[in-house]
Amino acid sequence: MIEKFQAVVIGGGPGGYVCAIRLAQLGFKTACIESRGSLGGTCLNIGCIPSKSLLNLSEEFHKVKNLSNKGIEIGEVKLNLPKMMKSKDKAVSILTKGVEFLLKKNKVTYFQGTGSFKSKNEIMVKSNTNKETSIQADKIIIASGSIPVSLPGIKFDEEVIVSSTGALKLNQVPKKMVIVGGGYIGLEMGSVWSRLGAEVHVVEFLDHITPGMDKEISNEFMKILKKQGINFHLQHKVEKIKKNKSGAIVSTIDKNGDKKDFECNVVLISVGRKPNIIGLNLEKIGINLDEKNRIKTDKNFRTNINNIYAIGDVIAGPMLAHKAEDEGIAVAENIAGQSGHVNYETIPGVIYTTPEVASIGKTEEQLKEKNVQFKIGKFSFMANSRAKAIDDAEGFVKILADEKTDKVLGAHLIGPHAGELIAEIGVAMEFGASSEDIARTCHAHPTFSEAVKEAALAVDKRAIHS
Ligand code: FAD
Ligand code: NAD
Repeated sequence: MIEKFQAVVIGGGPGGYVCAIRLAQLGFKTACIESRGSLGGTCLNIGCIPSKSLLNLSEEFHKVKNLSNKGIEIGEVKLNLPKMMKSKDKAVSILTKGVEFLLKKNKVTYFQGTGSFKSKNEIMVKSNTNKETSIQADKIIIASGSIPVSLPGIKFDEEVIVSSTGALKLNQVPKKMVIVGGGYIGLEMGSVWSRLGAEVHVVEFLDHITPGMDKEISNEFMKILKKQGINFHLQHKVEKIKKNKSGAIVSTIDKNGDKKDFECNVVLISVGRKPNIIGLNLEKIGINLDEKNRIKTDKNFRTNINNIYAIGDVIAGPMLAHKAEDEGIAVAENIAGQSGHVNYETIPGVIYTTPEVASIGKTEEQLKEKNVQFKIGKFSFMANSRAKAIDDAEGFVKILADEKTDKVLGAHLIGPHAGELIAEIGVAMEFGASSEDIARTCHAHPTFSEAVKEAALAVDKRAIHS
């Protein structure tokens, strides 16, 4: 049987399902193919959502355990891990079903199965029960996402040697957990399991965590995580991982050649992700890839084949859900003859630890490298009345503005609700605002956002509360 569509999206993640909905809104007869059995992609099923659920639940557990320090006595606090996992699974299930509803509402046809190219206009969908359906489409958008990378020769078993997928569903709290890689996943999942009682050791190849982040923020971040009990082993390389009865032994070597073994119950390998092009049969139609096996596209997300486009984690750029979503909308609008576009200068990045870390635009290091003359405004949450009132005053806001024009070039935050506060700076940057524009905008009192206003005032050395 052959089904015909004007547009077909391969992948039902935040890139794919958002693109399919936008195409349908623009009047295209659209289908979306997803192999996982549920919509929402990595993000909803095994990424953003389950990790944020566990981050929140483990933080609540940790907070409640420490309430007596603030004069609230509630007796013994116990962890019920299966119930906590159920609560996380419920959040995932509600949201993935929500996406299915949205596809229906927008009249997008949902095919459950793996899509592979038969020709540049035809895709074969093989369902989990091996039923085959052939789909023809004028336009095809690849949004097949990414998968975790392991270390050479080491396979994930998702029980002892785990990727983020296994780390999101451990059935007991490991006594000791080694995390290879101090990036987004390592630090979020490390925070979860540390709060729930694990002794966490992060083994990082570089001399700092979170590469690419503004160095001052990264240093402060590591200091705070250390205070929370997470152990860091920088400039350490993993040589081998050997499983044993109680878990595994992770053998490392540091920059001086000193070797050290870490015995642990669980090893999380979080050293990055790679594009997922498995099963698409891209060779058949000759789609060009770059040196990292990402699908090559032009600025309109078009591949070297005229009617085929690609978006999200499978192409270049930060592997973030909101980047994939915005590309999904932009490509749909381009296909409809509009001028869809994504401003890569204003894509925020947020790490949802406590405190949260958020950044947008250029870092201090990037500006120096490009010889841009800039001013810095900084304001500590220690001087923010709301943060002090609720005893949540770690971190600071840092705004970077052009020396001459005062235009905001970047902002980097570590502190309470940093992931929400960054949105204000995103809007400001989209409008080409100066730090003075932010400084002259009235911010409610007492709010954390006043720290953003004060940092903007500090760009011209006129912060009031420091
Ligand atoms: P995906 O979400 O990976 O979706 C691609 C989908 O395509 C998958 O469901 C896959 O099954 C399907 N697929 C692949 N090949 C085929 C095929 N041949 N046929 C049919 N279907 C196919 N990002 C954030 O912005 N914020 C966060 O807080 C955040 N947290 C994360 C936490 C973790 C643990 C992880 C792993 C990632 C996190 N991310 C986060 C990253 C985010 O999940 C990804 O950037 C985002 O999901 C990419 O969207 P996508 O649509 O490109 O791909
Ligand atoms: P990452 O790129 O964030 O961090 C990987 C870390 O591993 C880096 O610090 C790197 O220096 C280190 N590393 C690389 N090879 C190593 C080795 N052999 N030994 C020791 N350390 C090594 O990657 P990730 O944490 O796996 O996350 C993948 C991607 O998923 C992220 O880049 C991000 O795009 C996305 N993500 C986003 C969020 C969020 O937005 N809050 C959360 C989780 C994941």
